[in-house]
Amino acid sequence: TYDVHIIGGGLAGTEAAWQLGKRGFKVRLSEMRGTGERSPAHQGDGLAELVCSNSLRSDDDTANAVGLLHYEMRALDSLIMRAADKARVPAGSALAVDRDVFSDTIEAELTALPNLTLTRERIDTLPDAGLTIVATGPLTAASLAEKIGAATGADSLAFFDAIAPIVYAETVNMDIAWRAARWDKGAEASFALGSDGKDYINCPMNKAEYLAFREELLSGEKTVFKEWEANTPYFDGCMPIEVMAERGEDTLRFGPMKPVGLDDPRSVSEKFPKGRWPYAVVQLRQDNKLGTLFNMVGFQTKLKYAEQTRVFRMIPGLENAEFARLGGLHRNTFLNSPTLLDRQLRLKSSPHIRFAGQITGCEGYVESASVGMLAGIMTACELAGRDWAEPPRTTALGALLAHITGDAEADTYQPMNINFGLFPPIVTEKKIKKPARKLVYTERAKADLAPWLAGIA
Ligand code: FAD
Repeated sequence: TYDVHIIGGGLAGTEAAWQLGKRGFKVRLSEMRGTGERSPAHQGDGLAELVCSNSLRSDDDTANAVGLLHYEMRALDSLIMRAADKARVPAGSALAVDRDVFSDTIEAELTALPNLTLTRERIDTLPDAGLTIVATGPLTAASLAEKIGAATGADSLAFFDAIAPIVYAETVNMDIAWRAARWDKGAEASFALGSDGKDYINCPMNKAEYLAFREELLSGEKTVFKEWEANTPYFDGCMPIEVMAERGEDTLRFGPMKPVGLDDPRSVSEKFPKGRWPYAVVQLRQDNKLGTLFNMVGFQTKLKYAEQTRVFRMIPGLENAEFARLGGLHRNTFLNSPTLLDRQLRLKSSPHIRFAGQITGCEGYVESASVGMLAGIMTACELAGRDWAEPPRTTALGALLAHITGDAEADTYQPMNINFGLFPPIVTEKKIKKPARKLVYTERAKADLAPWLAGIA
């Protein structure tokens, strides 16, 4: 018998198992690798395998959101961070690891826990009862993915995760771009950020700008699909922008860059008292409740990262844009967590089941592990009959959890890395310049973390 069943021994599942196991709860950890079965991305059978890069990204906890997440996880005695610190290899301010030492350390620490049973088995159904944490990752085995789909009402959970870039709102040049919804007759168009409602930020293009931009989309360097990704269907309406551009000179102008109904207030004249429609428009849509992040509507892309930054800064209004996340396209399995999960990562329709890791719609090794950590601690509280207090929204843990469990816009929900755009903005009379602003964010987080830590100790 056991207190909790954790399915999946990746980044999230091992961290959840550690948080529960070290608190004395009986854990059954099921991992399918080791039975002869593996996802197409995994190479070995070790727990918490890093499937691609060996970097846990920046370790700078003063100026970087993922570095701050490292700090918070260390403060909670994270196994992933403990193993990473032990396996660290030189990589400047990044935390890069020897992936074998990393995985071996995690496996050794977990199997040393007397109350943890690691079983190499593939789980094909969601249990009807008993506290469970599902942490089977972006490449969840097909049979279980089907059951999760059925339980959550999704036809299929595995699809091309066509990611559109996300821009920090404050880096958009609002002297050029303006806020308005298409055909928005009632509301005044506005150049100011922070106006109410879900109107868009519109970036106008003239014909020459449009044609030059299309050329760059066509010639820009793209990433190529992996063999196992090749048969996965495109998710509805998620055609890469450069594929649309290939179809004809005007395809984008009649598609995501359609200008109709968008009166550019900069072109107001006697003849056009509300302004004229530009030749083409790039629309940015609010991506979080705080209004700090905007996604580029219809701009899912396979362009390489450096190319995206270069080409998208050609868009008028985005010449100095900074991106909270760049676009991408890969196979992924994740839930629409903002609608399906409660604030404690429990499936609303079956609250004995928690989800953790990338399947909740966070993105990245560290983020996945941190959500595993939260799921583990939440479950420990539940088992101990103690109240769970959410980490403050001003911390990296709190910001990520709030985003996943309700603050993100559900209809455009896409996997998300931790970034400062998820934190409540710091409002001061005078705008604080970077990097001082990042320091203010990280110091606020650390100050707010301390009392919360004391409370859940
Ligand atoms: P995983 O680490 O994948 O763990 C899930 C575990 O569950 C696996 O061990 C799997 O074998 C097991 N499992 C699956 N189904 C079952 C089942 N039915 N029964 C039992 N066990 C099961 N993030 C980065 O930060 N940097 C990168 O470079 C990076 N590269 C990536 C490359 C690819 C190809 C992919 C797909 C993702 C990448 N990610 C990267 C994103 C992501 O953060 C990692 O995939 C991360 O490992 C997710 O952690 P997780 O615990 O949610 O899932």
